[in-house]
Amino acid sequence: MIKSSFSHDELPFLVLAKTLADASNEELRLSCSSILSTMSTPKVDIHVSIGSGQTLFGYYVQYKCTLTCPLTCRSWSITKRFSEMLAFRNSLEKLQSSTPLLEEVITLPFPKKHLDAEKPHIIAARIKGFEVFLRHLVALYAHCLLPTTDSPLNLSEMLQEFLDVPNDIQNIKFEAAPSVCEKECTICLDSFDHDQVHEPGTILKLACGHFFHRECLHDWFTQAMTCPMCRGPITHLTAIYEA
Ligand SMILES: [Zn+2]
Ligand SMILES: [Zn+2]
Repeated sequence: MIKSSFSHDELPFLVLAKTLADASNEELRLSCSSILSTMSTPKVDIHVSIGSGQTLFGYYVQYKCTLTCPLTCRSWSITKRFSEMLAFRNSLEKLQSSTPLLEEVITLPFPKKHLDAEKPHIIAARIKGFEVFLRHLVALYAHCLLPTTDSPLNLSEMLQEFLDVPNDIQNIKFEAAPSVCEKECTICLDSFDHDQVHEPGTILKLACGHFFHRECLHDWFTQAMTCPMCRGPITHLTAIYEA
């Protein structure tokens, strides 16, 4: 009996595309935005899969992108097609004249349109291009969140919608907490030190008032979106900084 050969996501051209993209990832790491210099670089991880829909071939390639907020270390996933990425990039280009913040994102090399878009090397190039593009978008969004940033309102909203930013990050607050160093993170039991309040977001306060390292919360959030101490719901995060 012949075994039905591949599940959609294991189709040979997708596996090959991912291998090609991984092999050339080194140069990607070098692309770093000036916006990022004050924050940790956002992580972006892309998996390709097949979506079925009304296209010439009866299916389309889609890119599942796992994004990490550099302020809070919170991760979430979005799924986009090439056409959606391109449309968003073009809408940013139109907005470019109204803000210097977009200059860098617009000058990034963006993957080209192709007719035979399911060739492995084309998908690999798109994975790489999207990784850089999305990393900049996430950094730009986080930058817009900072209370010191003067960004046009529609830019922040556009990014929020396209990146499907979780509510608790959208609603992030910033709070100067001079006495936070007397407290400790109840996940790792280390006390907070002064270095950690220099960069807003290294220490996060949850809606219930409990404080944690964002790295400690990152692992916790993969299991539950509640406070590890009191199980209180996470309606928003507060990034602590030194006054
Ligand atoms: Zn901790
Ligand atoms: Zn709590």
